[in-house]
Order: sequence, then C-alpha cells, then structure tokens
Amino acid sequence: MSYPRKLVLLGATGSIGESSLRVIRKHRDKLQLIGVSAFKNAAKVSSIAHEFGVSKVHLCQTPPENFQLPQVTELISGHQALLDLAAWEEADIVLIAVVGAAGLAPTLAALEAGKDVVLANKESLVVGGELVMETARRTGARILPADSEHNAVFQCLQGQPDKTLESLALTASGGPFRDWPVEKLNQVTPEQALKHPNWVMGPKITVDSATMANKGLELIEAKWLFELPPEKLHVLIHPPSVVHAIVQFKDGCSFAQMSPPCMTFALQNALLYPDRFEGVEEGIDLCNSLDLSFSPPDLCRYPCLKLAIDALVEKGCAPLVFNASNEMAVEAFLSNRIGFGDISNIIDRTLNLFEHRSFKSLEELLILDNEARTLAESLIVQVS
Ligand code: NAD
Ligand code: MG
Repeated sequence: MSYPRKLVLLGATGSIGESSLRVIRKHRDKLQLIGVSAFKNAAKVSSIAHEFGVSKVHLCQTPPENFQLPQVTELISGHQALLDLAAWEEADIVLIAVVGAAGLAPTLAALEAGKDVVLANKESLVVGGELVMETARRTGARILPADSEHNAVFQCLQGQPDKTLESLALTASGGPFRDWPVEKLNQVTPEQALKHPNWVMGPKITVDSATMANKGLELIEAKWLFELPPEKLHVLIHPPSVVHAIVQFKDGCSFAQMSPPCMTFALQNALLYPDRFEGVEEGIDLCNSLDLSFSPPDLCRYPCLKLAIDALVEKGCAPLVFNASNEMAVEAFLSNRIGFGDISNIIDRTLNLFEHRSFKSLEELLILDNEARTLAESLIVQVS
C-alpha cells in the first residue's frame, strides 16, 4: 500500500487512541487521519480535529453547546453513522480502539467494506471471532493485530511458511497484586487496581490486567487470529513486560519479540506494515542486562484467567458470556458496587446460570450478549 495511508480511528480519545495519535504525529507524511470517533469526550475530539484537520467526527453522546469543530469537519452521530464511518470508502485503514464488545459492529462493518483493520479491540474477537474471521476471509480484508502480544506473534510469523506454527505463549506482567497474599485480594480498591506496574492503559483493561481476565481474553483472541487449539496457547508471567510473546515452530525453534512496554511499538508496526521506520520511543537497551524470567501463572490467584481458559475450551457462546459478565463486573467494581474478588464470582455464576445456545448472525449474538449482561447485573445486585 502506498503513502500517505488514509486512516479512520475509532475510539480516538482513549489510551490506545492517544498512543495512535503519537504514531501519526511522528509519521505525518505516511499516515493521514481523516475520521475519528469517541463516546463522549467532546473537548478532546475537538482538539484532535483541529490538530489533524480530520474530515469526519463521530460522537455517541450529544456534544455541549459550545462544542467547536474546524470548518472542514463534519459532525456525525447515531449507530449507523459509526458503521458508515468504519466502512467509509475514503479510508485505507480503520483502527478499532473502542473498548468492549461495542467494538464488534464497527469491526465487522470495516471488514465487510474490505478495509485493512488494525485491531486493538480484543473483545470483538472474543465475542464474535467466527463472524469476524469469516467476514475477513470472504472480503479479503486484512486484520493487523495491535494488541501487543498478538502483534508480537504476528511479527514472529513474518516470512515463515504457512502451517508451521506449533504453539505460542503470551506474556503477562501478573499485575499489581502478583505478590499479594491471596486472602488479601478481596480488599483491593479500584484506586489500587487502576495502578498497573508497567503499562498505562484505559480503566477497563487495567482492571482486567489485575485480575488477568485480560490474558484470558487474549488467549481467545489468539485462537482466532492464529488458528491454534487451546492446548497450544500458553500464558507466562514475565514481570518486566519486555518480551511480549514467544512462538514455537514445528521444528522446535522459538522466536520472541521484545520492545519496551509501550503501545506505540505494536501500533506503528500494524499501521505501517510491512515497513519499518524510526519509532516514537527508543527500543530496549541491549547493553543493559535483560530480565528474561518466565513462570507459569498460579490459576488460584487468578480465577478469572481460569474461567476464560474454561470458556475457550468450551467454545459456543461461553467466551461471549465470559466477556459480557466481565464487562459488567468490572464496571460494578469501578463504581464501588462489588469487591475485587466478586468479579470472578459474578463471571463464574453467570457462566453457570446462562442458558447457553449457539448463534450464527450478529443479531443473534447481540441478543445473547444482552441476556448475559442482564443476568450478570441481577447477580451484581445480589452482592452489592
Ligand atoms: P479507553 O477506555 O482508554 O478508550 C476507549 C475508547 O472507546 C474511547 O475513545 C471511548 O470514547 C470509546 N468508547 C467507549 N465506549 C464506547 C462505545 N460504547 N461506543 C463507541 N466508542 C466507545 O480504552 P483503551 O485502554 O484505549 O482500550 C481500547 C481497546 O484496546 C480495548 O479493547 C482494549 O482491550 C484494547 N487494548 C488496549 C491496550 C492499552 O494499552 N490501552 C493494549 C492492548 C489492547
Ligand atoms: Mg495485550
């Protein structure tokens, strides 16, 4: 693909949105931002529109009266307008940086239109992996993984013959409570959970990292992206977050990808693929001793990871129910309605009580997603 690449960035005001803007600023001659979306942060969207002169801005919520956009910018709203922006014929690349299952419909719309999709939103693959992969196959659209571990696997696979990947391991820092006594975990407050030792991220994924639900979601994401069965997908605790993933090929040789724990590396790799230009940040210092320690996770400390692995093995709608109940439970934890330890209990009970069924279309999927959220909310009310 030639330069400049025209880019639509959905979820521009979040943490991934900010990291993406840093990559775009660095490579203005190669990446041209033409459309952005956000849930409600009108002030931030306005400043992005002014800085980059974007043509279209989508807001989910009505902006305040004093909201101002450049004259060249069109303000759009409503669900269909978001899908139209994702499928906009002007765009070469659509970056999905929306948080949660809300990212699924725009991801499908962009793939349906044959766009290159840079996918940060892991939840879309967790809830609708089959629909997403089938749409990409049918239209020939490419999915370029931007989640750091998946981008690491993607980089390790470049130039390798098809069907030679044997297994992979995604690394995890273990979060801020890696060394806490397990019995103290129920006392964790939202403020403590929102302080990740290595990464700066949005609130939902930061809590997911503390419970390791995040790594569970990422295993399911990896299953769809790299077509490996559950027994070939592994997790390793690696506290410094310098190695992001390790792949092993059929002949027993392994490759790992390393970079500092900053999302600009993965995002730049996906946005400028297959080219490599100077990065936004310095790479790792190879002359400084590297901590390359890895250990398997203790599933008793991380029950959310165990539940995600069970859902991955079970297939059907279990990953969708896992995701929906996790989203509800994390929101309830962040608003002080439930304790940290309740997050896994809510997911566990929702998975057990849910009437599991298969689904074929986005419409059927959304019905199940809604049901799972209603059930999870009723369980949250019981403990709050
Ligand atoms: P965030 O909360 O910081 O930002 C989310 C963005 O999505 C915001 O722009 C917000 O306005 C928008 N948004 C929220 N709800 C929406 C809705 N219902 N409809 C449309 N837009 C909505 O989140 P984040 O940390 O940037 O994460 C975004 C996605 O990227 C998540 O799926 C996360 O798992 C994934 N991811 C994040 C990181 C990271 O370092 N932050 C790393 C890997 C993957
Ligand atoms: Mg990740």
